[in-house]
Amino acid sequence: MSDRAVEILNVIGHAKVYDLGQPYWSGMPVHPADPPFQFFLYRYHEHTKKLFDSIAPGFSDSIGLLVTSMHAGTHFDTPIHMARDLKSLNQDLTQFEQDKGYVGLPPELKSVDQVPPLVKRGILLDVATSKGQDILPERYEITPEDLEKTSNLEGVNIEKDDCVLIRTGYSRFFTTDSDAYLHKYAGLGARATRWLAERRPSIVGIDNLAAGVPKPFEIHNILLSDNGIFMMKSLNLEELGKDKKYTSVVVVLPLKIRGGEASLVRPVAFA
Ligand SMILES: [Zn+2]
Repeated sequence: MSDRAVEILNVIGHAKVYDLGQPYWSGMPVHPADPPFQFFLYRYHEHTKKLFDSIAPGFSDSIGLLVTSMHAGTHFDTPIHMARDLKSLNQDLTQFEQDKGYVGLPPELKSVDQVPPLVKRGILLDVATSKGQDILPERYEITPEDLEKTSNLEGVNIEKDDCVLIRTGYSRFFTTDSDAYLHKYAGLGARATRWLAERRPSIVGIDNLAAGVPKPFEIHNILLSDNGIFMMKSLNLEELGKDKKYTSVVVVLPLKIRGGEASLVRPVAFA
């Protein structure tokens, strides 16, 4: 009898695993309008050793505490994150909003806990490299012609349900230069975003802070509220780009936060 797990491991075990996530730390760059990301040790070993001494001599533990929005660093957005005139996919979102999250959403408007584990074909569009650059110029607006040229050079075709990954080269500034990361990034223009949406990918991911240049909100509206396409931002696409892995298998596991509009996430690509 064939062992399915061994068959799968034979394939996956020989692939290189690419970590598409950035690290998280207090003080990391987040969108200026969003709450800061805060992580600190809530409990220290030397404190709990005293606390538990009478019931478990020698024992201690340590506990970290996180205070953050779900839009800090590498994260995953669902269509309910953004609206046009309060609507996403033609549904008025206000009727589903509660303090503890979204309740009673119709099936096309999933909260993040309703998004299944996602295993998709990844298509890397390395726009910077296709233009002969290591990194796109400051505030560069990516056009449909750039995406067309990149996919032709790479010999890839975006198909329905793919996870498209857009490389601008700005990943590197996440850990090295907050000002460049927050204010100078290149990104998708509205025309390029419509070009992507017409191809019906399931996810569009990018390696910058807010996806779009010069109008980040419009890019979110086109993908999320008009087309129901998930987004990932602040990805690290440097290694995938360096190895020229234009197709891969991407695995995305958003946290099952009930009624949530987004999730911190650590996607990986097998190639
Ligand atoms: Zn977001």
